[in-house]
Order: sequence, then structure tokens, then C-alpha cells
Amino acid sequence: MAAGSAIQIPTRLPLLLTHESVLLPGSTMRTSVDSPRNMQLVRSRLLKGTSLRSTIIGVIPNTSDPTSDCDDLPNLHRIGTAALAVQVVGSNWPKPHYTLLVTGLCRFQILQLLKEKPYPVAEVQQLDRLEQFTNGHKSEEELGELSEQFYKYAVQLVEMLDMSVPAVAKLRRLLDNLPREALPDILTSIIRTTNQEKLQILDAVRLEERFKMTIPLLVRQIEGLKLLQKTRKSKQDDDKRVVAIRPNRRISHGSITEDEEEEEDHDDVVMLEKKIRTSSMSEQALKVCLKEIKRLKKMPQSMPEYALTRNYLELMVELPWNKSTKDRLEIRAARIVLDNDHYAMEKLKKRVLEYLAVRQLKNNLKGPILCFVGPPGVGKTSVGRSIAKTLGREFHRIALGGVCDQSDIRGHRRTYVGSMPGRIINGLKTVGVNNPVFLLDEVDKLAKSLQGDPAAALLEVLDPEQNHSFTDHYLNVAFDLSQVLFIATANTTATIPPALLDRMEVIQVPGYTQEEKIEIAHRHLIPKQLEQHGLTPQQIQIPQLTTLGIITRYTREAGVRALDRKLGAICRAVAVKVAEGQHKEAKPDRAEVGEGEDCKEHITEDAKPESISDTADLALPPEMPILIDFHALKDILGPPMYDMEVSERLNQPGVAIGLAWTPLGGEIMFVEASRMDGEGQLTLTGQLGDVMKESAHLAISWLRSNAKRYQLTNASGSFDLLDNTDIHLHFPAGAVTKDGPSAGVTIVTCLASLFSGRLVCSDVAMTGEITLRGLVLPVGGIKDKVLAAHRAGLKRIIIPQRNEKDLEEIAAHVRQDLTFVLAACLDEVLNAAFDGGFAVKARLEHLNSKL
Ligand code: ADP
Repeated sequence: MAAGSAIQIPTRLPLLLTHESVLLPGSTMRTSVDSPRNMQLVRSRLLKGTSLRSTIIGVIPNTSDPTSDCDDLPNLHRIGTAALAVQVVGSNWPKPHYTLLVTGLCRFQILQLLKEKPYPVAEVQQLDRLEQFTNGHKSEEELGELSEQFYKYAVQLVEMLDMSVPAVAKLRRLLDNLPREALPDILTSIIRTTNQEKLQILDAVRLEERFKMTIPLLVRQIEGLKLLQKTRKSKQDDDKRVVAIRPNRRISHGSITEDEEEEEDHDDVVMLEKKIRTSSMSEQALKVCLKEIKRLKKMPQSMPEYALTRNYLELMVELPWNKSTKDRLEIRAARIVLDNDHYAMEKLKKRVLEYLAVRQLKNNLKGPILCFVGPPGVGKTSVGRSIAKTLGREFHRIALGGVCDQSDIRGHRRTYVGSMPGRIINGLKTVGVNNPVFLLDEVDKLAKSLQGDPAAALLEVLDPEQNHSFTDHYLNVAFDLSQVLFIATANTTATIPPALLDRMEVIQVPGYTQEEKIEIAHRHLIPKQLEQHGLTPQQIQIPQLTTLGIITRYTREAGVRALDRKLGAICRAVAVKVAEGQHKEAKPDRAEVGEGEDCKEHITEDAKPESISDTADLALPPEMPILIDFHALKDILGPPMYDMEVSERLNQPGVAIGLAWTPLGGEIMFVEASRMDGEGQLTLTGQLGDVMKESAHLAISWLRSNAKRYQLTNASGSFDLLDNTDIHLHFPAGAVTKDGPSAGVTIVTCLASLFSGRLVCSDVAMTGEITLRGLVLPVGGIKDKVLAAHRAGLKRIIIPQRNEKDLEEIAAHVRQDLTFVLAACLDEVLNAAFDGGFAVKARLEHLNSKL
């Protein structure tokens, strides 16, 4: 058979002795080499050889290499496979060994063993032809039917496998392309056969014999596969029926009670499916869930997607698709709740009641979203909470400050690892009903980022026309948000995107006056703090005068949050004293002082009331309350943080007080100016925005053009104020960016004071925009500004004439304390700002000292 073969193997072959496996021609095998002779073969033949010939070795099956090279060789199997060593991999661990990858070429038979050491070499005779597989037709004719039969079985076998696997598809092609005589060897090495069977095939030198021996192996494999496929199919059917079968099977064990049977019923996925079917989710959602649960059943539990899908389905079941609380809206009761919870804020309460009344009459929520805008700590959040209370609805607060990813609102798609629903859906899951009050806190602090614009995502949520089909990316089905009552809060409308602002009705919540703060403190904050600290009114007494002291000297804010904190600090200090059982009072009569009016009399410097810290040694009956007076205040809160510094700062020309509006409420603002020799430059400091810089330029231009009229001169007596003169304008609190037109009149007044050398009245504050022609234009935030001036103890306020209408909003007692000057032009402003007026052409020779 070897005659005429195209490729000839060497007649002398080094022999690799294998025991564990059988290499057949046409197949590849990986074998481990660690016995002495085989190692020698690899080292001296394979690793050192350089020609192709040197990589051809004879693999002898069924013969183990002795563990020592001193031992004689056992009887060698007569027939082996000539093979090409394709790869040698060496390793020293756990002991030196090589791993050889060999590909079988053809059979050979050993004629004579030539040497045994260091590795066996034999003279061999090639048994198979090693051709380039070109004459397939010839062999087909020779073997005729046998070969045809074999081919059919082979095709049948391969087609039973999954053809989508590339290796199987390749094998199918090989069946057609390879010469038939090569097939028995190749297929034997692929199908499941024992080493013994492989050895028989190797020994079957005649092709016909080989075909005959392989066909039963193929048939056996085909039958095996058929059986396997049948059992797989029935197992799937079984899986479907597993729920029905399981209880019976358990009963057959005889020891299972009915309870346990039921527990078995609680099989997770089945339970989930049951819950899905019984939940009241929308049709669309139900369809999606059932599809997902079908997938879940087929999925092995170890798959990461299993947990994802389960979480998703569990959320879907938990969501309150149809669950709601019953509204118990009664306007009269609502008014009482709002009044009880909050002092003042009449405008806000009125609007909220209107809103609720419309809800009651119309019974739907399609209306604008309320947005409370005001400084921190004025009770925006707590009004939201009260609204929920009056309606008997669940309340949920969603803090939007700093949210910059739209997925925070709309959720992540489920393709993401760690995907989750957005805050809206999460909130609904938390409250468990579909009609809660959602407070969207700090909508003005949403930020944009690369992850999209969360404000845009909120648009859909807040639009009553759209939000009945809000689609969270995670859920991927619509959820009806139309029953949710949304309320938003913000510090300023300036940073709320216009589209969002458009969907909301803004209700301004201005800051409180001192009187209001005192009332809030005594009606709400102090009782709340006492309760939180486990104190009773019998243990601590805070007179109104003390509260006023905290408000003016320890806080400077529009709301009451810092006040609340300070009261908390006082309660803590008292709690320590009470807990120590050491609370004492110097004069028992002072403890009986109840009302603020009386307090004023008692807490004077002469009375020298003793603070809780320095009265420790005087024992008193436990029912005596600890009185918090100024001394106690100083002990607990430290020295006062704010002092009335207004008059001190206004004792030089070139300073004026302006009024500014910030998101935190109104503020008084000192504007300072100085002049020096120079080239007519204007320097502005204090982090000013462009509008403020323009106001400064306008003010200077107007003064320069009116210098003669007012007899204003620079240092050298010239009416050109900037001649050889530089001006520096400074707005203190330099770290805070300031912008807006309302400082115009203040800058003019400040510069007029600088150039005239006269002092601005120390109790005057002002606000207003100016024009180049000297008119005063209206500005915003009058109420907050007036409150700030009132807080700072100023008496006269200059505001633009066209802002007169805004004064109505200001509480009567505040108005009583203040004098308002309504100015239409700058002449009127200057006249009001300086003692004795600022007369045209009135040149004053001396300084008007105010001290
Ligand atoms: P905001 O949301 O405006 O920043 P909060 O609603 O958190 O302020 O209010 C801060 C605290 O002040 C809360 O404890 C609240 O009860 C209290 N508070 C504010 N305004 C009033 C008021 N008018 N009456 C009673 N308590 C108030």
C-alpha cells in the first residue's frame, strides 16, 4: 500500500511510547511526556532537530515507557502512527515534563527495533498512502457500497448536531471534501470511542476492514444522540409540568404535611408569576412582565441576567399601579391645618387653599404645578408636608439639588449593569400609592452635564398633559403619574430653565420680619425643640426678648433655620443641666416671669440675672424653670456674632448703604469709594457682574455731567471729576458675586458724598436703577430688601417711585417703623440721602459731622 504514495515517511523513526491514548491518522492529540525515554526523545530529537524530518516521530500506542531508562523496554505494539510534532511546551512544575501536540500522518509497522537508548528507534514500514487527497473518486469506486454506506451514516450523524456551531459546519464540509478512505480514522477519533476501539481501528490495516469496524461505532453514536435528544425534550416538558407534579411526588414520600405542600407552592418564580397576574398593572405592563417571566423560567439561575430580570419583575409587582389613598379634602380643615402648622405666610396659604379648593370642586389635578420660591428656612418644605397632611396623602421629598444626570429622573435602561429606575418611580415604590404628594426640592439647583439635562426629563413629569404616560427607561412601560400632586421649591427663579418654569406657578415666599420670627419661634420652633430634647416648659423658659436677641445678634437670615439651630443649642445645654439635676436660679421670683413684656424689665443690666453656668451652687426646687437670659445666651452661644455697625461705617464721606437681593433673602450692602491722584481710571472691586460695572460707569458719567450743577470738584478744584483723579469703588463681601442694576442710586450717592465731602445719613438705605439722564427706574425684590433694612435697624429707605405698589405687601408694623422716600430722579435721591438735602449749586464749605 505504501507503493506509489506521494509522501514517504522516513524508514527509521524515533518512537514515542504512549499508554493512555491512541493517535489515529488525520487526528491531533495532546500528550504529556515525563518518562525518561520519551523526555530524551523530545530533548535530543525534537528540540535540537532543525529539519522537517526531525519532527516526524512514530507514536506507539498501548505501550508504557518504563519509569527508569535502565529498565528494559516492554513489548512494543506492532502498529503505530507516524506523527508530526506540531508543538512542544515545557514546564518544571510540578515536575519537569513536556506537553506534545502531535498530528497523525499514517500507519506504520515496526520491522525491527534498532536501539533502545536514549530513546527507541525502529526501522519501519509505511502502511497507509500519504497522498494529497486528490484521488478520492478512485477509492470510492474501489470500496463501492461500503464507503457509500459509511458516508451516509457520517452525514446523518453530523446533521444531528447543531449546525450553527462553526466547527460542526466545517466538519460537514470536510465530509464532502475529504477522500472517503480518510474518513474512518477521522470520525473514530471524533466520536465517543474507547481506547480499545481506537486501537482496533488502528490495527485494521485494510481499508475495507476499517470501514466495517467503524460503521457500528457510528450507528451506536447516532442511536445515543437520538436518545439524548429525546430525553432533553421530555425534560423540558417535565420542567413545564414541574409545579403540577411536585406536590404529588412529595406526597408519595409520605412525610409531607399539607402546610409544607403549600410552602412548596411558594416556589419563587411561580409566586412571582402569580403576583404579576393578580397585580393591577396596566395591560401593556402585564404583557411585558409575562414575556419576561417566560424568559426567566428558561434562564439558568447562575446567569447574571436572571437576577436583573427578577429585580425588574419584583419592582413591577411592587409598584402601586392602581393603589391610592382616599383624598379627604375639606377646605375648612385644610385651613386649620395650615394655620396650625405655620405662622404668617398669608399669601402662600391663601394660594394653597385656592389650589386645594379647585381640586375639591373639580376632582382632578390638571392644573399648574405650584412652585414655592423663597430664601432657605422660610417653610417651603414644611408647607408641602402640611398639604399632604390636609389631603391625607403620602408625602415624599425628592431632593434635586446637584442632580446632573437625566437618568436620575428617568432611570437607566436595563441594558446597563447596575441599572435602576429613576427617582420618581423609586419614590412611588417607597410610598406604595400612586397619588402621593411629591415635593421636588431645589429645582433651581438642577445642573446640566454630559449625561443629559435632568430639567428636560422633568418637563414630561410635570406636564399634566403628558404625565399620564410617563415612561421610565428602566420600566420601559408607561406609568400614570397624573394622580401625583407635584410641588416644587426653589430659592430663585433665575436658574430654573424657562421651559420648566413655564409649567409651574411661582408663589413667592418672602423672608420674615423680626416680629414674625419671634412668633414663629414661640409658637412652633421652641415647642418642637423642647419635645425633641425631652424638655418641658416647666424646665426651661425662653422670654421673647431673648429670642429677639438671638434673631438680631446671633443670626442674620431671611428664614428661621439658623434661629431653629440656635434654639436647639440652647435646649441641648439646658438638657445637660436638667439631666445633671443641677438647674438652679439665683432669684426665685425671676423664674415666675412669663411674658416678654415682664422680661424686659427683669433682664436689665442692674438686675444682673445669673446665667445657668454661674448659679450652680444655689439649690432650687426642681419645678423652677431655667430662664434663658442674655447672660445664659452668651454662655451657651458665645459672644454675639453680629453687631450694629452701620453708624460706625458711615462716619466718612464716600460710603452709602444699598439694598441687595440674593436668593437667601435681602441684604444691606455698603458701597465705598475713594479717590486718588491718577489718570482718570475707575477701579471696581468686589466681584461685580457686567450689569453692576455698567451701573458704576453710568453713575460716574451722570455725576461728571452734573458736577457744575452740584458744585462737585475733584481734589484740584476742577469740575472734571476724573481730571488727574482715579476712583476706586468697592463692594464689600468680595467673595460673593454681585450683579444687577439696583445699585445705581447707591453708587451715585456714594460718589456724590466722596466729591462733596459730605456724609450720607447713617440711617438711610436705598435701591434703584439709574439712567444716563438721571431717572430712577424700578427694581425687584423690594419686600426682601425692606425687611433687610428693617433688620439692620435703618429708618429711611429710598426706593424708586414706580415701586410704590410693592410697599403694600409689607407688614403694617414694619412700614410704621420706616420712612419711605419715593424717588423718580436722582436729584430726589440725593436730597433724601444727605442731611439738609443736596441742593443744586449749594456749595458747603465745611464738613457736616454726624458724630
Ligand atoms: P425651606 O424648605 O423653605 O428651606 P423648611 O420648610 O425646611 O424651609 O423650614 C425650616 C424650619 O422652619 C422647619 O422646621 C419649619 O417648620 C420652620 N418654619 C418655617 N417657617 C415657618 C412658619 N411660618 N411657621 C412655623 N414654622 C416655620
